[in-house]
Amino acid sequence: MDNKKRIIVLGAGISGLSVAWRLHELGFQTIICESQGHIGGLAGTIRADEGKYCLDFGPHFFITQKQEIVERITDLLADDVVSFERSAQLHIQGRFLDYPLSAKNVLLNFSPGDSIASVFTFVWAQLKRIAQKILGMHEQSPHFGEWAAANFGSHLAKIFFRPYTEGFWKLACERLSPEILPTSTRLNFMKSLKMMLVRRVSGKARSLTERELVLPLRYPTRGYGLIAEAIAERVLNQGGIIHLNSRVTQLRSVAGGYVVTVLQNGQVVKMEADHVISTIPIPNLVKMISPGVSSNVQASADRLGYLGLIVLYVVTSKRDLLDTSYIYYLGRPYHRLAEMDKFCDTLSPPGENMLAVEFSCHSGDKLWKMSEQELLELSLPHLDQDGIISGEDITKSFVVRAAHAYPIRYYGFREHLDNVLQFIREQPNLDVLGRTGEYRYIDSDQCMERAIALAERIAKAS
Ligand SMILES: Cc1cc2nc3c(=O)[nH]c(=O)nc-3n(C[C@H](O)[C@H](O)[C@H](O)COP(=O)(O)OP(=O)(O)OC[C@H]3O[C@@H](n4cnc5c(N)ncnc54)[C@H](O)[C@@H]3O)c2cc1C
Repeated sequence: MDNKKRIIVLGAGISGLSVAWRLHELGFQTIICESQGHIGGLAGTIRADEGKYCLDFGPHFFITQKQEIVERITDLLADDVVSFERSAQLHIQGRFLDYPLSAKNVLLNFSPGDSIASVFTFVWAQLKRIAQKILGMHEQSPHFGEWAAANFGSHLAKIFFRPYTEGFWKLACERLSPEILPTSTRLNFMKSLKMMLVRRVSGKARSLTERELVLPLRYPTRGYGLIAEAIAERVLNQGGIIHLNSRVTQLRSVAGGYVVTVLQNGQVVKMEADHVISTIPIPNLVKMISPGVSSNVQASADRLGYLGLIVLYVVTSKRDLLDTSYIYYLGRPYHRLAEMDKFCDTLSPPGENMLAVEFSCHSGDKLWKMSEQELLELSLPHLDQDGIISGEDITKSFVVRAAHAYPIRYYGFREHLDNVLQFIREQPNLDVLGRTGEYRYIDSDQCMERAIALAERIAKAS
């Protein structure tokens, strides 16, 4: 079935590529406009030094509960994929603990004072929750700090949840919603207790952390971006068009569709579309819609924002830098270290290994503006002191940056997001999709699922 509808997709991340792939299977034509010079967005891989080094935007692995997605990935990558065991740690108060934190850690690895206070306040918090439930009392919209104390007890909230959360998001807990944790709305008493005691979640495990514990992990042999690159190849083979270095700047609503203005390699180009699917940051989309949005919708869009990510890759011939694939840190300028050889040893030339040093930041802040050399100077004293790597072990380094890595779920964000999404729903033939586009804290397999579902909805409605 051929459909003459012309669909323009904004962004060539995993969402944009997957929706185009499925739309072509359903007989549609698509054009993808991507502002960067590479495809894959957050799930892309930068191939540095003529492809010798594969640099992901933070180490990724593929994990899914959906058979259809498993089959698509198997079909795309064939043998170019390795499976591995998940192993992660948390470094806190000079000790290495399991990640996610387990009840065993709290009992055995914290100082006796912290263990007793944690257990006591955890039990107290649970009793309070049961009593509130029986009495039909509900806490009114807690901020993240209140939610953590109510779920895990005030002591664990103080020594772990608050410093960890504020260190990562670079925002006070009072400014954050519990929904910054993808699990938060689903973690009830039994689930949280189970997570802490047995570290297993039955039923449909949803968040990355939960899913990591129960599902097999896969990693493509030449960087995570191989998945996006393979999908892009399918789209091109199906007759799709992908414009790189093409930043969309305006979406003008006209009878029956849109005129999309694109800044393509410095030239302004206008394209006509019957339907537009946006996977770009939703506040940016709102700004580019013409005629302009109401001040109320614009004010809501201005209340949404993203946390940025910088990944410094240091190259070394040293092996076994870490005991696990990656370690989360508290009290360091970076929040996570990952040893890339432990994901797959073909990401750098034979005999070389890479340590990925991740910094969360706000686009434009002091960290964001630091040069590669400054980031190295900031990290090296800590890496050296922790016995991981010292200056003389490093042969070269690279940096990759993503300004829109994590949608920030500010305290009270839901009302603003709903306001913006309602406005988008009112626009004919315009859809938003994906982690960045829908402002959802989701993983790449979930982006693929949503993309396939959207393509099928569009086909059904045509
Ligand atoms: C550090 C980190 C680790 C992660 N780990 C995992 C993991 O282990 N497993 C997993 O499954 N998922 C993981 N994820 C999540 C995964 O990366 C995302 O869910 C997925 O890549 C989001 O894809 P997307 O297409 O929705 O958004 P994006 O990748 O953000 O794509 C949006 C695209 O739009 C482009 N764009 C923006 N503005 C414009 C414009 N004006 N015009 C044209 N194009 C534009 C961008 O350049 C980008 O390519 C991780 C994410 C991060 C940040």
